[in-house]
Formats: sequence, structure tokens, C-alpha cells
Amino acid sequence: MAATGFSAAEKEDAIALLQTLIRIDTTNPPGNEREAIELVAHRCRAINLEPTLVGATDDRPNLVARWSAGEACKFDRPLILSCHLDVVPANPEAWTHSPFSAHNDGTCIWGRGAIDMKGFAAMGLAALTRLRRENAAINRDVIFVAVADEEAGTKHGSKWLVDHHPELLGNNPEYVINEVGGFTVHQKGRRFYPVQVAEKGVAWIRLTVRGTSGHSSLPTDDNAVVHLAKAVEAIGKTQLPWHPNDEAKRFIAGFAAPEGAVARALSPLLSHPKIGPILLPLAVSNPSRRNSLEAILRNTANPTALKTANPINVIPSRASVDIDGRLAPGQSAEDLVAELRRVTDRLPGIRAHYEILEESPATSFSPETPLFEEIERTLLEADPGAHVVPSIVQGFTDSRNYASLGATCYGFYPLQMPEEIDFASLFHGVDERIPIDGFHWGVETLTTVLRRFLT
Ligand SMILES: [Zn+2]
Repeated sequence: MAATGFSAAEKEDAIALLQTLIRIDTTNPPGNEREAIELVAHRCRAINLEPTLVGATDDRPNLVARWSAGEACKFDRPLILSCHLDVVPANPEAWTHSPFSAHNDGTCIWGRGAIDMKGFAAMGLAALTRLRRENAAINRDVIFVAVADEEAGTKHGSKWLVDHHPELLGNNPEYVINEVGGFTVHQKGRRFYPVQVAEKGVAWIRLTVRGTSGHSSLPTDDNAVVHLAKAVEAIGKTQLPWHPNDEAKRFIAGFAAPEGAVARALSPLLSHPKIGPILLPLAVSNPSRRNSLEAILRNTANPTALKTANPINVIPSRASVDIDGRLAPGQSAEDLVAELRRVTDRLPGIRAHYEILEESPATSFSPETPLFEEIERTLLEADPGAHVVPSIVQGFTDSRNYASLGATCYGFYPLQMPEEIDFASLFHGVDERIPIDGFHWGVETLTTVLRRFLT
């Protein structure tokens, strides 16, 4: 890899910024991202990038800072570097070090947001600072974006920004670099770098079940709450059908590629709608890996929020549950409702009504672009012998909103992870922490990709 040679002072500065960001509690809800956004704004001004702060409410602004290519501009459509500064809640009692202490144990920086994703804010700013100081003649505009409210659905963050200020995002950006990808996955002595090119869709659904209202001092066999409990149990236990998709097949094939001929031959069967569900438990022993593979091959539906409005002494005429549904590529919320209806229609005496509260389909981007090629080439130079795999993730990110502007979005937040730390468990998990050396490796790698791609 072309040496970018970050000095010790630059490295310390990036870590210090990350620690300061972690110490600002941006737990969402409520978020309160302003202080963190202001800090990032200050750092943008320090490199002569004038930030714009806009948001639906005063305490939850989003930041956009545009580096104009000026005369060197060859490509009209900008590249966006995007991070979110809100974090999911953390229960301090469960943590080894307080989640907002940004404790440095000499190997890792601990804290909520270290990985997801204040680390990328610090990394992106370090890369831009370096390129600005080098007076890099960039060939397209680069837009640095730090948003609020990713973890609770993006309503005040990237969704608001895309809906209200697409011009700040270049109206029609060509590329977005965001989470989730670029980190090391260790498997059977090999190292893989998934780079996200797709994410599952979202279908938030309300299931309402009806019964007969009455005084709860009397016996009844038509109680909506009891019906709902049966429906929830049936949905919870069901195995929804598999929907093989190109994104999942490519992901599975990417991990099988360096294996022997048998594994390569078996891997397409994993996504087979009939054989896959039987083969997967036999082929993949790690439960969390098995779970995430299964999630990209089918729709999922998890009942999460039970609702009745009644007091304790009235049998309600209806009871509801909200279901967090996630869609495989090519699937719609209607498709998922049809699958759920087949489950609840089998239950005697239950009248189920489904309402789609929110829907956004899966997003998918081609890995055959000059940016992806540059990411792959640089990763392979930075970690010789590793493998790069275009990946699909089961969650959603801000990328789903940027996709509506026509951008190709990649999850590329380079982090070299040691084998003993399981990256997936850190995401929203207890004892979230980022390895210091792996972070510096990421700063170098990201800077190299940007320098090569933009100049
Ligand atoms: Zn995140």
C-alpha cells in the first residue's frame, strides 16, 4: 500500500477525537446529537471546510461539509462520506468499563459508539485532514456528512436530509461510503473483508386481532388478547420460506471461494429453497454466523411491541402487535404479509388484520464500479492474502436513503480486527470497543482509497 505515513501526532489526534465523541452521550432516543455535531463542525472548520448544520429540531442537527474540486473537477457527481453520531442505549452495569468513559486499555478504546459509528467520524475526518493538508487536487467534490438519528429509523437524520435538502448532498451523488463493511472476518485461518453492497428491506407491520368486548368478570372464549397471544406464538415459531437472491448467493460464494472443491460445490445449495434450510445447520456450526446467513436468505418477522388500550377490567374488542419485518431482496411488504397471513389463517377462530406501517425495499448496488475496484485493490494490499467479499447485511443504514438519490452506496469502514474480538457481537453489544492498531490501519486504508480514487 502506498505509504500515507500518518505521524504519531496525527494518530493520537484521531484517537483523541474518537474519545471525545464517545464521551458525549448521544443515546438515541433522545439522541441530543448537537454537541457531537458541533465538535465535528469545529474540526471541519479547522481544515477550512465550512459546515452547514440543518435539522428538523434545534437539538438534533445534521452536518454537511462540501470540499469543492474546483478547476480539477472531472466528474460532476460527488462522493459522500457519511457517518451517524447517535448511538444505541447502553446499560452501564453490564459493561466492564463505563460505556461513555472512552477508556483506553492500551489496546482498545472502549465505549458505546466506538464501532457504531463514531470511529468512522474520526477516521473520515483524519483522512480528509490529511488530504487537505496535502493540497490534494481532487477530481470530484467530496461531501462529508454526519447525521443524527440513524439508530431510531433515520427520520431526523439522513431521511430528513434527503427529503428537505437534497441539494446539500449534491442532488445526485454518485457514491456514498458508509457503514457496514471493511472489517476483518476470521474464518478457518483465513481473513475476509466483507464490503457491503446490499442491505435488506424493512416492513414494519401491525397485526390486529379482534374479539368480543365485554366485562372481564365473565368467562369468554372470544378474548382478543388470547387470540393475539396465539397469533404471536405461531408467527414466532414459524420458519418463513427462503428466497434465494443474487446478493446472498454472491456473499456465500465469496466465503467459499478459497475453500476446497467440495465446499465450493456445496455453497450454491445453501441458498436452495428446499435444501438450504436442511443443509445450513449441518454446514455452518457457528450459531451467530448461521443466523445471519439465514437472515439474508428469507424474510424475517419479529413481533416486538404489544398494544391494547383497555383498563384491566374490560375485555378489549381488539389487540395489536407491531412486527419488525425485514425483506430479502426482491420481496415487498405485501409479500411478507401474505406469508404471515398463511400462518395466522391456520389458527381457528382468529380474525387477523394486517396493516403496513412502513416499507422500504432492500437496496442493492453493483460491485462492478471503479470505486469498488479501488476498495478491493487497496484492502488486498493492506492485508495481503485476505479475501474481499461483496456483502449484504440484514439491518438497514443511512444508505437506504442515499440510494433514493441515485447513489451507489458501499459499506466500507476499514478496521483490522484481531481474531479474538468478534466484530458482530460489538455492534449494539455490551463492551463495544475498537482496537487502536486496527483503527489506525483503517485510517491509512481509507486515506489511500480516497487519494487514489479522487486524484
Ligand atoms: Zn450504525
